[in-house]
Amino acid sequence: MINSLLQPHAFPGRLIIVEGIDGSGKSTQIRLVQRWLESMKYNVFFTEWNSADLVKKTTKKGKKNRSLTPTTFSLLHATDFAHRLVSNILPPLKAGMIVLADRYVFTAFARDVVRGCDREWVRKVYSFAPKPDIAFYFRVPIETSVQRIMMARQVLKDFEAGMDLNLHPDPVESFKIFQGRILDEYDRMSKEAGFVVMDAIASIAEQQRLVRQVVLDRLTAYNRNPRIA
Ligand code: ADP
Repeated sequence: MINSLLQPHAFPGRLIIVEGIDGSGKSTQIRLVQRWLESMKYNVFFTEWNSADLVKKTTKKGKKNRSLTPTTFSLLHATDFAHRLVSNILPPLKAGMIVLADRYVFTAFARDVVRGCDREWVRKVYSFAPKPDIAFYFRVPIETSVQRIMMARQVLKDFEAGMDLNLHPDPVESFKIFQGRILDEYDRMSKEAGFVVMDAIASIAEQQRLVRQVVLDRLTAYNRNPRIA
């Protein structure tokens, strides 16, 4: 079976993705990139990994009554991703647009492994996903991410804190342990995934300056008005 993630895709569009733990600032950065590209009249499509109705009810139920195993949890998310790929990512890529994705398969690679799935198995499950043209990884210490999340909304969701894994009775402590493991997984896959690693402690403006530089460098061969076959 061909692993699409290992070779550049042949679509006329471009796929730019952001990864990082919660509170790393990835959404802030990708939204700024979106506005910047749009201001230059690029055709941009933004997509984030929010569960589609197709699987939302099942995952919600499974999370609530804790009936999901690492494998069923992973497969449900893979279904969700496949749906997002077919309906949100591939059409604009084929039409030659710049697709900006807030979270991609690497989120699953990190999260599912921390929840107990085999590394190679998860990679095989997602091998149908096209390789991104640019993958930014916003690397931030756990303390910084907790501070940012608490300042913004003051509560941590149970699943985001990994409470189902019984790591610690206190949600903040549990979050730190859980997200710390996710951080380790991201670090581990950095080379394999070809991440552009960002120092996410830096100011929003400074990071955005660097992000734009990378995007400009990598868009040199991009034709914004492709002839669609
Ligand atoms: P993520 O998408 O990684 O969860 P967000 O972009 O939603 O992170 O940012 C989380 C919070 O941190 C938001 O309130 C945002 O305004 C703030 N934030 C983002 N980047 C920075 C930064 N570089 N410095 C300080 N605060 C930031």
